[in-house]
Amino acid sequence: MSTTTPDATSVPRLLSEQVEWPTLPALQQPQWPNGDEVYRVRAELAAAPPLVFAGECDVLRSRLAAAAVGDAFVLQGGDCAERFSEATADNIRDRVKTILQMAAVLTYGASTPVVKIGRLAGQYAKPRSNDTETRGDVTLPAFRGDIINDFDFNPESRTPDPQRLLRAYHTASSTLNLVRAFTTGGFADLRQVHEWNRGFIANSAYSRYESIAREIDQAMKFMLACGVDFESTPLSGVEFFASHEALLLDYEQPLTRIDSRTGNPYAVSGHFVWVGERTRQLDHAHIDFAARIHNPIGVKLGPTADPDEVVSLIERLDPNREPGRLTFITRMGAGNVRDKLPAIVRRVTETGAKVVWICDPMHGNTFESSTGYKTREFDSIIDEVRGFFEVHRDLGTVPGGLHVELTGNDVTECLGGSEKIIDADLEKRYETACDPRLNHQQSLELAFLVSEMLSH
Ligand code: PEP
Ligand code: MN
Repeated sequence: MSTTTPDATSVPRLLSEQVEWPTLPALQQPQWPNGDEVYRVRAELAAAPPLVFAGECDVLRSRLAAAAVGDAFVLQGGDCAERFSEATADNIRDRVKTILQMAAVLTYGASTPVVKIGRLAGQYAKPRSNDTETRGDVTLPAFRGDIINDFDFNPESRTPDPQRLLRAYHTASSTLNLVRAFTTGGFADLRQVHEWNRGFIANSAYSRYESIAREIDQAMKFMLACGVDFESTPLSGVEFFASHEALLLDYEQPLTRIDSRTGNPYAVSGHFVWVGERTRQLDHAHIDFAARIHNPIGVKLGPTADPDEVVSLIERLDPNREPGRLTFITRMGAGNVRDKLPAIVRRVTETGAKVVWICDPMHGNTFESSTGYKTREFDSIIDEVRGFFEVHRDLGTVPGGLHVELTGNDVTECLGGSEKIIDADLEKRYETACDPRLNHQQSLELAFLVSEMLSH
């Protein structure tokens, strides 16, 4: 296993896999204890039905093309690391409800269509800065996400287990099934806008949301009185897409299918997949994977991204300058965004590529609290989003969306917000298996602030 030295992707192609993959270096891949078992698991995944369909990915690409030119705004959110044990109906519903509420705030506040993308049904693999974790005098492999090993700190749990790829596939399948039911079965109907608040703790963001919901209700009643037929308009259902980081190649490669309509390969593990900050080397396997699939794709860009390197990514991933194909998710940190982002955006604009610019205000703002928790400050998150808007407004480019780690639960993982969570509160409900997430209230507060930025 290696984080800093690449392992070649070494599993031979299976006849059952539809795409032939070249042998290339890949970072952040596990060292499986048993190669034969991985081989069998890949064959099983290659034979399994797709989780999403190429036609749906194409719809998302056209929505992202609208976001690239400012005709829509993207909201992408969910867990840092989804856990198998937490894929319960309540948790999935509350995450979807949180995203729907944020989208309602943004759509209503800024009169902009919102492209809703969950970071779910596949967000099971994590890149790590260190291959190992040490507690006291015990050193074990780091937790790399439920798709690879288990979180508990003992040798058995931390040993990578290929059977987990199958469990990931089935958990993604049941998660998506529920998301599809929620978002098309009437639950996401805008007439349910009050319903989405039910079950959450009443607090200031909750009340502010209630008053927006009342206004939306009134507007709906007005339209109904005017004779608008809601049953045949998009208001009665919602488009909701699934996304995750395409990190674990033993999962992503066998879940790639040739689209029978066009003969093109598509990742069928999710509608939108992205390559993370640690695995975006131009000559490595992750960028090669992203280049081959026809899904809309993203690449994370941190403060060390070099403008020329970013242009090479465009040449590699979007040579035909297809609208909606390529999204850059920038995660510079509040202290860097105003300095580092402009040079990148200028160079990209010069190439003529119409990429979607999405701000991830989470990953550049992580630090360790005095009490030893990995956390983020709500104010820094807001400051990075503000900086992102300022840079794009200055350059005449489009701030196209937001990418956040959130949960519908009432956790205490990020500091601040109007609840004023402080260091000493973190231990109360610190439940994430990886990075700290905004809780329900902080997520809504963020949506209100971003809707103001969007409408100015
Ligand atoms: C993440 O999105 O959880 C992540 C690891 O991000 P990044 O690749 O930007 O560090
Ligand atoms: Mn994360």
